Amino acid sequence: MAAFQMTITTHPNSDHADGPDSVGVMVDRLAGAGFDILLPHVKIGGEAFYHSHIAKVHPQFAEWDPLTVIVQKGRAAGLQVYAQVCVFPEGENSALIQSDASLRAMTIDGEPTPWACPASEKVRQYELSIFEEIMDNYDVNGVYMDYIRYNLDNVCFCPRCRSRFKEETGTDPVEIGRFSGFDESAQRGRNRKHPAWVQWIEWRVAQITTFVEALSAAARKRECALSGAVFMDYPECIVNQGQDWAEWTEKGLLDSVVPMTYTNSLLMLKKRTKTHLAHVKGNCALWEGLGQNSSRSNLSTEALIEQIEAVRDEGAQGVMIFPYSTLTDEDLAALGKLNV
Ligand SMILES: [Zn+2]
Repeated sequence: MAAFQMTITTHPNSDHADGPDSVGVMVDRLAGAGFDILLPHVKIGGEAFYHSHIAKVHPQFAEWDPLTVIVQKGRAAGLQVYAQVCVFPEGENSALIQSDASLRAMTIDGEPTPWACPASEKVRQYELSIFEEIMDNYDVNGVYMDYIRYNLDNVCFCPRCRSRFKEETGTDPVEIGRFSGFDESAQRGRNRKHPAWVQWIEWRVAQITTFVEALSAAARKRECALSGAVFMDYPECIVNQGQDWAEWTEKGLLDSVVPMTYTNSLLMLKKRTKTHLAHVKGNCALWEGLGQNSSRSNLSTEALIEQIEAVRDEGAQGVMIFPYSTLTDEDLAALGKLNV
């Protein structure tokens, strides 16, 4: 059986903004703490944090290419590198959106969002080309999808999605409304009782899964591993984010999957890990995402170690720790002594 994998998310702005030497410091600290795989963010909000010829390169990194240095230094320290791409967020500096503003995902009120519409073939081709560029030009061991989903339960109601869904089913999705209608007491359950609701949630799932299938084929062809961050609350994320990640594992599309199980509760972490293992069914590795410092968790050194041991004891194959920037020397020293 493969060893328990210790993986970590790193961020260009906070972790190595001070030039190539700052990458070396980060890599040495992580190698010393026993990490196996680095998951550096390389595309955020549509901007590239590597020298892309497709997406706009973030001006802070115009002079040097962080991904080149991370791969070099990571490999030298015995670490694997998976490039982490925020797939569908495409903000105002996005080359894709600047070329065609109609590719933005829209809310039910017709407001454009800073994400691209996953139902657009042009969008999916563009995002795939980003991954292909990385796999072809950098010696990465894998690629890692973040934000591989819809941004809200309130998208996408762009003219393209509305007309295509209506063509296929006879219903304009605006008539169904927001998915979260269930939680609005005044309209409790109304939206989920709409006759076309079942088709609508499955239609959204299909847009995302189609992209994962194409990316998986491209990664397999290049013998590059594919992994990604997913919602911990499966299967509800099927409805809310159009993300059916257990289906991806059943289809053999992924090498590992990383539910973001960010919680201070050891009890919830254990229960979630059991649930996730049941969904993954051994079809790929399960790395539980632990929020050392996230929007809904903050873990002391002791709690972090306890969570890692719990994930291992439940039978998962690794952890992803989020994020690097807030790990203290004390955290790293404790991780280095951990025997997983
Ligand atoms: Zn759309």
